[in-house]
Amino acid sequence: MHAEIVTTGTELLLGVISDTNSTYIARRLQSIGLNLYYITSAGDNRQRIAQVIDTALNRSDVVITTGGLGPTVDDVTREAVADATGRPLVTDPHLLTSIEAFFARRGYTMTENNRRQAQIPQGAIPLENPVGTAPCFIVEDPRGLVISLPGVPGEMKYMLDHVVLPYLQQKLGLSQVIKTRTLRTAGIGESALDAQIADLETSPNPTIGLAAHPGRVDVRIGAKAANEAEADKLLDEMEARLRARINPYIFGIDEDTLESIVLKLLAERSLTLAVAEVAAGGVLTDGLAQAAGIAFCGSLVLPDRYIGYDTHIDLPAEAIALANRARETLHADIGLAAINRGPDQSYILAVGPLGRAERTMRFRGHDLVACQALASYALDLVRRMCLGQNE
Ligand code: ATP
Ligand code: MG
Repeated sequence: MHAEIVTTGTELLLGVISDTNSTYIARRLQSIGLNLYYITSAGDNRQRIAQVIDTALNRSDVVITTGGLGPTVDDVTREAVADATGRPLVTDPHLLTSIEAFFARRGYTMTENNRRQAQIPQGAIPLENPVGTAPCFIVEDPRGLVISLPGVPGEMKYMLDHVVLPYLQQKLGLSQVIKTRTLRTAGIGESALDAQIADLETSPNPTIGLAAHPGRVDVRIGAKAANEAEADKLLDEMEARLRARINPYIFGIDEDTLESIVLKLLAERSLTLAVAEVAAGGVLTDGLAQAAGIAFCGSLVLPDRYIGYDTHIDLPAEAIALANRARETLHADIGLAAINRGPDQSYILAVGPLGRAERTMRFRGHDLVACQALASYALDLVRRMCLGQNE
């Protein structure tokens, strides 16, 4: 049993808006234990939307569409669903009454266009939309269920949570939940991490997936179980197995950021941090400023010419001078220097009451990605310093 999502709207294909509806629906389907196999977007074109829905019905049990239920000419989802399921559109008298009532309550004049919104594919189950004018509907087709929801995120969420999820649970006899937990790691590359947990990544339940970001790797655990408590138990067990292998790299869980964790660890120790970054895009500073912890005293954000272009430069000496300058200027306990000199020559160093830690960094690739990776490793240096983990 699995679902797929069809989002509609030319704006999505033009890159004008992001498809946040799918993200939301994907998460909510997990909560009722319904697997999601595909997400497709189509523009406001009747034929193409119908084609996508037709394909979806050939391979999935549940098809959820969003968008195109409004009163305007480019809102063609009703027609497309009717085409894909081989039914005519008919006016639903109850929907018409409720749309009329909606307009009367707000004192608006109803146009002929709005009447179109009371049309649904013949035999479809109409769903009143108390938070907007676009009514929704469900077609119980022999091939599968087509559930059409509005595009406006607030309306879509309301209808999904209040009507569609309870309907699906009951209709499909869903009694399982899927829960996920993400372990956030830093200071280790994706392949090195993968090598340590490769055997666990083949586990069917819970499943494990890796997602790499510059200098940080997320390890996502997904568990399917009869209820939340059992899913939590599976997550706890897998987390413990992962921690037994990679605990030193795990800095947080789910919404935790490396910046917020580092600032929290410092605050717990009544320590403060100042940063000096050279040619590093201000990334380190930006992340710390956004985390807004009291332990952050500020930064010196410097261009590459600050330390010159001499290839024989003594980077450790430059770094310690910079770190000390930052902590003195900004009255902080710990100084953190990050110098971006390109591949093979970047250097990070932290110094303060907890001692001194440093590392030469080797990156390849895009500049911004290199700066982000440098920032991640620099923060991880301070994190490990707080935890007494620096070798
Ligand atoms: P309306 O009655 O407002 O016309 P509708 O059901 O016809 O609603 P659309 O016209 O397709 O929906 O979309 C309305 C608005 O909702 C879009 O302009 C866009 O801002 C937002 N929207 C649509 N689809 C998505 C999506 N997949 N993710 C995020 N926002 C979306
Ligand atoms: Mg619309």
